[in-house]
Amino acid sequence: MKANENSTRRKFISHFAGTSVALLGGILLMNSCESGDKKQDSPVSERGGDTISVESCNDYTGVSAEELDKRKKLGYVEKSEVPGSDCSNCGLYIPPTEGAACGGCLLFKGPVEASGHCIQWVAKAE
Ligand code: SF4
Repeated sequence: MKANENSTRRKFISHFAGTSVALLGGILLMNSCESGDKKQDSPVSERGGDTISVESCNDYTGVSAEELDKRKKLGYVEKSEVPGSDCSNCGLYIPPTEGAACGGCLLFKGPVEASGHCIQWVAKAE
């Protein structure tokens, strides 16, 4: 009887572990796909991938009025006035890609200064 219980328990644990691994794999795959989408939404793609020519993070050429409105409603400023809080240490900041001068933000499209700030600032996870 006890051997039968152990066998059932082993089967359950084995099945549970297999299902967990499959779920984890699916979640990781979905996350990697989402990351790819976010990269496409970054200021880099809005500028057709021409990241090196962007020298000013306040050049909003190609950024839609709707996206500019989002940034305005969030109170985005290029220079934070909150000590210790700016876009560079915000959890929603998208750091510049190699060769790019400006980063981005997960909340709106267009270039973002590392020294910027808005009302949605949230501490970056360590
Ligand atoms: S949420 Fe605000 S503070 Fe954070 S990166 Fe975006 S603009 Fe900067």
